[in-house]
Amino acid sequence: MKVGFIGVGNMGGPMCRNIIKNTNHEVIVFDLNPDAVKVCTDLGASAGNSVADVAARCDVVLTSLPMPTHVEAVALGAGGIAENARPGTVYIDLSTNSPTMARRVHAALAAKGIPMLESPVSGGVTRAAEGTIVIMVGGDEAVCDAQRPLLNSFSSEVVHTGEVGMGSVAKLINNMLAFCNMAAAAEALMMGAKSGIDLKKLDQVITNASGFSFSYRSLAGKSFAGDFKPGFSLDLAHKDLRLALELADELGVPGMIAPQVMSLFRMARGMGMGSDDMSTMIRVYEKALDTEVRA
Ligand code: NAD
Repeated sequence: MKVGFIGVGNMGGPMCRNIIKNTNHEVIVFDLNPDAVKVCTDLGASAGNSVADVAARCDVVLTSLPMPTHVEAVALGAGGIAENARPGTVYIDLSTNSPTMARRVHAALAAKGIPMLESPVSGGVTRAAEGTIVIMVGGDEAVCDAQRPLLNSFSSEVVHTGEVGMGSVAKLINNMLAFCNMAAAAEALMMGAKSGIDLKKLDQVITNASGFSFSYRSLAGKSFAGDFKPGFSLDLAHKDLRLALELADELGVPGMIAPQVMSLFRMARGMGMGSDDMSTMIRVYEKALDTEVRA
């Protein structure tokens, strides 16, 4: 089978490389960044010339792109997947989008005979490299089942969450929860730093106690090392939280916590930290209080 992969950045890159390593499929890669393409072609993929080229040649096309506007342009825009893929080609979008946009892209592609699975992923760059991410799939269940061998080649858990839109719903809810956990972790570690406690001892306690979370581990690791290279950029986290807050609004669910986290994100972006890892949010506290959280 010919598998196309468009967008091989921080997440798409390792996911694509696991497909190359773990399957016998012919993988054709396209990205606007030639360096990102090279890391995949060095492993045995071939380079496509354009989105249109990949779409026309492949049986399955995957995308992992930053913003909903990029996904809509690549899927439905001039030179995109809808224009160039053969009917029957399966389109799998691994990006984080709004449910509304996923439904719109799905409907436009369905009219051309191109089934779509909206398949956002969670786990971050480390787990993407390990092939242990979770994939949330919204779309036709039979199409999802047919693609499970491919999806399993770069993940450890594939959950069919319902019709198109429900993958994004699951992803946005999960990320909102993770971001709230991380913001709480930033506040907690700053309290630790100001208290004078040995941060390594505090970390040992939290790691074995009830305050622990995946987000805590990620933030503490980055902060203690003073290394805020992404990872998962604050700009992308801001996009996800904006989409989650829009969803909460559509559902009429009051926001008591997540909107405060959004304010923290806005402060961090206003301070020029948007392209850093999202854990950079702790530096808003660090700068305000002139205290670093390093250990
Ligand atoms: P990234 O910016 O590192 O990678 C995106 C890649 O897409 C870049 O290499 C860019 O050159 C390429 N690109 C952009 N427009 C393109 C186009 N028109 N044609 C071809 N290539 C194009 O972003 P990322 O962190 O890999 O995130 C990708 C998606 O995955 C986002 O939707 C993000 O929200 C989601 N996500 C990221 C993480 C994470 O930890 N980084 C985790 C889960 C989900």
